[in-house]
Amino acid sequence: MSLNIKHIRDQFPILKQQVYGKPLVYLDSAASAHKVVDVLLAERRLTIDYYGNIHRAAHYMADKATADFEAVRTQVAEFLGAEGREEIIFTKGTTESINLVAFSFGEAFAQPGDEIIVSEMEHHSNIVPWQLMAERKQARVVMLPFADDGELRMDLLPGLITPRTKMIAVTHVSNVLGTINPIREITELAHAHGVKVLVDGAQAVQHMPVNVRELGADFYTFSSHKIYGPNGVGVLYGRRDLLEVMPPYQGGGEMIAEVSFTKTTFNELPYKFEAGTPHITGVAGLGAALRFITEAGIGNIAEHEQELLRYATEKLLTIEGMSIFGTSPRKSGVISFNIEGIHPYDAGMLLDKMGIAVRTGHHCADPVMEHYKIPGTIRISFGIYNTREEIDQFFEALKKVIQILGK
Ligand code: PLP
Repeated sequence: MSLNIKHIRDQFPILKQQVYGKPLVYLDSAASAHKVVDVLLAERRLTIDYYGNIHRAAHYMADKATADFEAVRTQVAEFLGAEGREEIIFTKGTTESINLVAFSFGEAFAQPGDEIIVSEMEHHSNIVPWQLMAERKQARVVMLPFADDGELRMDLLPGLITPRTKMIAVTHVSNVLGTINPIREITELAHAHGVKVLVDGAQAVQHMPVNVRELGADFYTFSSHKIYGPNGVGVLYGRRDLLEVMPPYQGGGEMIAEVSFTKTTFNELPYKFEAGTPHITGVAGLGAALRFITEAGIGNIAEHEQELLRYATEKLLTIEGMSIFGTSPRKSGVISFNIEGIHPYDAGMLLDKMGIAVRTGHHCADPVMEHYKIPGTIRISFGIYNTREEIDQFFEALKKVIQILGK
């Protein structure tokens, strides 16, 4: 069964907008995806019909809100194939999920001289938290490079793992190159050496089926706003045996069992890692986004986006002076490119005036830019709602940009 794109687009009213009098062509879903209307309805329902702070109060409204919130935890556990719902922690987003692990795993396991392997293609969110942890613990961040085609140098990984390696932090899908990394291969190698693996799934869960147990991930993270859900909500999956021995990341309400000035004891999983009032309505919205994805069928979504990727790549390659960064055969719907003689920022600004939303710059992945010795790229990225017609519109606009800016 393939996707009914018209039906899908009808659920994203924003796509009917015009910008500068032109129909909006949104090719920036890797930065943030639009919200499916059911997300807003779920947030509205919880806000208007039965809002209350969760977990604590013994009243109807709070009970109902708690039930909704905890039902989404179960839904996320199923969505990711986790063993138990207590392995799902709600955060603000991928960035906070990774910071949580870097801090708490570091406190539990890192010793001076230990090493964390981080790939060269990571988003800054999966580099800086490890650098901060390394500084605190006198540990070291070691880089796993990628080749010019955007594939990780898996041949180098065995040589980088030493008896001091504690963790490999790697993205499932690169937000610049689109490469889908061989996570299973990485976790098998890591586990054979007693090394843990954190997988940044921010660019994966919305595009392909993910099962954390099949992948062998010890930690897996994603952001709701990239999967058609609300901003300000994220997920951390962590293996229960690891989370159990990791100390809390933040202190506050809900994460404690008992507090006194002589001794405080901590709550059980997952609450130990959820200090303070969470984004209650946002989590309800995430539940609606996951229902939307599941109903559309993640396999259908993957197929649709792969078709768009093929179509757009073919078109782009007809342009003289085109360089595409990331040409792995295992790629998700992201294309980063430059055209000889044209600055990406200028192209992005002109495309915008023609109604085409693309992203330009370093995409929070400076080491990738450094790898290719470029200041930035133009990036287009696809979501469930994009169409071949939109790629045609983008392509026509890009040809005009080349006419205006080209030599
Ligand atoms: N990791 C990857 C691969 C990303 O693409 C992004 C966002 O673009 C992030 C992490 C950070 O996500 P957030 O800003 O939602 O925390």
